[in-house]
Amino acid sequence: MECPFCGGEMKEGTIPSGLKWVEDGEWEGIPLTVGLLGRAPKSFYCPDCRRIILPVPEKAEGVLDLVERKLDEASGRLDEAKKQWEARRTREKEEKRKKEFGSKDPWEL
Ligand SMILES: [Zn+2]
Repeated sequence: MECPFCGGEMKEGTIPSGLKWVEDGEWEGIPLTVGLLGRAPKSFYCPDCRRIILPVPEKAEGVLDLVERKLDEASGRLDEAKKQWEARRTREKEEKRKKEFGSKDPWEL
């Protein structure tokens, strides 16, 4: 890539992990690495201008985002299992009641 400042050839590389770009006056930043392994997009460094050009990843996902999503998935599965269990329990109760009702002497009621 050609340096937009001096026109010289830029060196290609990556910024390995954990960095964020944070706007002045803001707390939330834009993560510059992608995925659990911190795969970083290629960035370009001009040694003459001492500047780096770094493309911002399309879908930045940090480790915390990943953990959060996994937790959401897990709790979703738990809810599902609980619903199934409750449905089965209701069905069993229903069947038991029907059976008991059927076996009772109608004159006893
Ligand atoms: Zn340059």
